[in-house]
Amino acid sequence: MSEKTSKAFADLNLNPWLIRQCTSIGIKVPTPIQTNCIPAILEGKDVIGAAKTGSGKTLAFALPILQQLCEDPYGIYALIITPTRELAFQIADQFAVIGKPINLKHCVIVGGMDMVTQGKELAKRPHIVVATPGRLADHIESCNTFSLARIKFLVLDEADRLLGGQFDGQIGTIFKVLPKKKQCLFFSATVTDTLQKLKEVTETDVVVYEQPAEI
Ligand code: ADP
Ligand code: MG
Repeated sequence: MSEKTSKAFADLNLNPWLIRQCTSIGIKVPTPIQTNCIPAILEGKDVIGAAKTGSGKTLAFALPILQQLCEDPYGIYALIITPTRELAFQIADQFAVIGKPINLKHCVIVGGMDMVTQGKELAKRPHIVVATPGRLADHIESCNTFSLARIKFLVLDEADRLLGGQFDGQIGTIFKVLPKKKQCLFFSATVTDTLQKLKEVTETDVVVYEQPAEI
């Protein structure tokens, strides 16, 4: 994918309300990963995006997901999987702040918290579920209060840490209950061998953006 540069969020086909929300929290200019991934996501493409930590990967997927969600809101619309509790809460916070004007409902499914309470939250059909693999797999195996069968988006945040390692069993459990047709957005700090392999085997036309290293 060729590198694009952009001066404004308005150039990325984002709705004005999303741009207003960004401005209200001091986010005025898109970062390179946002400029390069948001238009492709809005076009319905699967995207693999790599850029170093702190480069704004969360909003690169959260903004286009929120825009699409607005057009056809139903829950559970998007599933975001991330390796740690801390990352899950950080991602959920960004969704909550930007999604405030549309009364976004979200829930965080991570270990160390009450399973029953989480099960009830899932049963309320939040638009966005942000989860760590272990706890989400536990819920899938132990209760039937919710369904992930109609998700529109699957996001693997820190995808290189989620694939091809310790999380394989849990990720396998989760993937089994997801619909075949969904838009897959995989973000990580580097395009590792696993992501490269995924790109080779995936049926769809995946857009890959890797932010060039700074010189
Ligand atoms: P990454 O996932 O790439 O490590 P994050 O998405 O967590 O990075 O973003 C890191 C920080 O940068 C967050 O505090 C976020 O609010 C901020 N941020 C995101 N996009 C922008 C932007 N376009 N301009 C300024 N700050 C931004
Ligand atoms: Mg991140």
